[in-house]
Amino acid sequence: MSEYRYTVEVTASSVSPLAFDPSRCIGCCRCVEACQIDVLLPPQRKGGVPRVVWPGECWYCGACVMECPQKGAIRLRHPLMNQARFVERASLRDEAPGKLP
Ligand code: SF4
Ligand code: SF4
Repeated sequence: MSEYRYTVEVTASSVSPLAFDPSRCIGCCRCVEACQIDVLLPPQRKGGVPRVVWPGECWYCGACVMECPQKGAIRLRHPLMNQARFVERASLRDEAPGKLP
C-alpha cells in the first residue's frame, strides 16, 4: 500500500457518516474507490484508515461498506433523524376509527 500526500481541509458538518475500526482496516482503499462522490480520501500514512473529508456529502448508499473485504472495518452511522421508527400507540389502536383525538 503506497502512501499518499495531500493537503485538505475537512469540511465541517453536523453529521459523521462513517466509523472505522483501525484494528480491522487493512488500508486497501476499496471503500475510497467505491464512493462515487468522493467523500473519502486514502489514508496519509501506512496503517491508517481513510479520511472522511466531505461528510456532509454522503448519500448513505452503503457502497463503501459493501465493498470492504474486512468485516466490521467500516460502519455507516445514519443521522438520528433517519433512525426514527413510527410505532402505533396502544391507546389509539384500541379505539374505534374516527375517534382520534
Ligand atoms: S455511504 Fe455511499 S456516499 Fe457515503 S461515503 Fe459510502 S459510498 Fe460514499
Ligand atoms: S475500511 Fe475496508 S475497504 Fe476501506 S480501507 Fe479499510 S479495509 Fe479497505
